[in-house]
Amino acid sequence: MATEFEDGFPAEKLFNQGYSYTYDDVIFLPHYIDFPTDAVNLSTKLSRNVPLSIPWVSSPMDTVTESYMASAMAALGGIGIIHSNVTPSEQADMIRSVKSRRVPILSSPVFKAPDSRIADEFDSHDVPFVLVTQSGTQKTKLLGYVAKSDWLGLKDKEIKLGEVMHTDANVCVPWDYDLTQIDEKLKEEGRGFVVVEKEGGEVVDAVTKEEVERLKGYPKLGKGTVGSDGRWMVGAAIGTRESDKERLEQLVKAGVDVIVLDSSQGNSVYQVEMIKYVKQAYPELDVVGGNVVTMSQAQNLIKAGVDGLRVGMGSGSICTTQEVCAVGRGQATAVYKVSSIASQSGIPVIADGGISFSGHIVKALVLGASTVMMGSFLAGSTEAPGAYEYDEKKKCRVKKYRGMGSLEAMTKGSDQRYLGDTAKLKIAQGVVGAVADKGSVLKLVPYTMQAVKQGFQDLGASSLQSAHDLLRSKTLRLEVRTAAAQVEGGVHGLTSHEKKAF
Ligand code: 5GP
Repeated sequence: MATEFEDGFPAEKLFNQGYSYTYDDVIFLPHYIDFPTDAVNLSTKLSRNVPLSIPWVSSPMDTVTESYMASAMAALGGIGIIHSNVTPSEQADMIRSVKSRRVPILSSPVFKAPDSRIADEFDSHDVPFVLVTQSGTQKTKLLGYVAKSDWLGLKDKEIKLGEVMHTDANVCVPWDYDLTQIDEKLKEEGRGFVVVEKEGGEVVDAVTKEEVERLKGYPKLGKGTVGSDGRWMVGAAIGTRESDKERLEQLVKAGVDVIVLDSSQGNSVYQVEMIKYVKQAYPELDVVGGNVVTMSQAQNLIKAGVDGLRVGMGSGSICTTQEVCAVGRGQATAVYKVSSIASQSGIPVIADGGISFSGHIVKALVLGASTVMMGSFLAGSTEAPGAYEYDEKKKCRVKKYRGMGSLEAMTKGSDQRYLGDTAKLKIAQGVVGAVADKGSVLKLVPYTMQAVKQGFQDLGASSLQSAHDLLRSKTLRLEVRTAAAQVEGGVHGLTSHEKKAF
């Protein structure tokens, strides 16, 4: 249904007036609904050869994406990008950890060697069992296990584990068992846990009955994002220094599916050269370039051969780049501008940063992005790295969330994203903060996606492609919201309220 009236602005006109708009500045005018919400299909691509069933990507930040988050993202049909603020081998291990599982659980069981005496874990921690392997680490075959109940019943507490362990091979399930299969096994055999193992017998993880019950309480998971190797897909961030080539080699050996070149200003000779290197050394591997916010930055990286573009400069919640360096762009304008050039070459765009609500996701996707990348939205969840602390003032549990350009993170090694090659003095472009406990992303993401579908339905767009077509054909119209209209668009005029979306 084409628009017959001059009502609202087409994106092309709105974003060419010399203003830098962000998501809250603009609002879409509703269009025509002729399908139900569940008919909205949000399947998409992260990059040229990485298809996703939901447009959802977790940021390569050390308080957001390690194995646990990346496993959950893949299980949900999105993808996680593992940060590079660790050694290359630690980053490669995180990739392997994601690739070797089919349930989004990371339980960190205790491992012991057969000749070790029973340690004090049973007394001092809430450890229900220890796993006995030849090396006493995860990296060898399971020999047996000792349950806490066995330990409590033992008279001789000095005995070696190898002498009292259960050697029942039935406790093991293959790595690719899904939640239903694990649940059935636990029930059939009346067990409290199973051990997930790789093809060669190396232990992947242990899954308890309680964890299975927790996961069953969330919306049902589909197949997730599975690559041509039959395993979950996962990405990793690297920089553009010479040493990153060695890091890349280790990541490729670990099976990484997509590489994200992590830079706050991606239009550089360093990045152009790295893109060419990756494409020449690993032609099958997708490489995402960025960050960019202008059409000419994007064009340069497209010419160098990127398979995807990451958009955003100064839009992140922990970011101080615009204050410190006076460069950047409002995120709505940046996403629209970069997408309009990238779409001509079929390059998917990731709208990175600045997402606080489902409405921001709708705006990013409809303005041309193929996926949204989030940091703060996912930080503070069960799957984010780090432990919860209690915030006395706010009266809630919080987890640390820090910018990779904060002094704290840069001291650990992330300085190359913000300092380029030669800077000697560290200047922060990010802050350290905390975010409230959000529970599991396995609940947060499906509910948020449902809200995004409702937004698409209001716009008469049944898919990302249809939204992009409606925008470019000028059928979808927008307006800028005045400050008063923005106040009106939020909850207002109440003495108190509780905001609970699901
Ligand atoms: P958020 O989702 O929290 O709004 O933004 C996350 C994004 O902010 C990341 O994906 C990354 O692009 C960007 N970012 C992460 N750390 C920093 C930082 O310290 N400084 C700046 N300028 N951007 C950051």
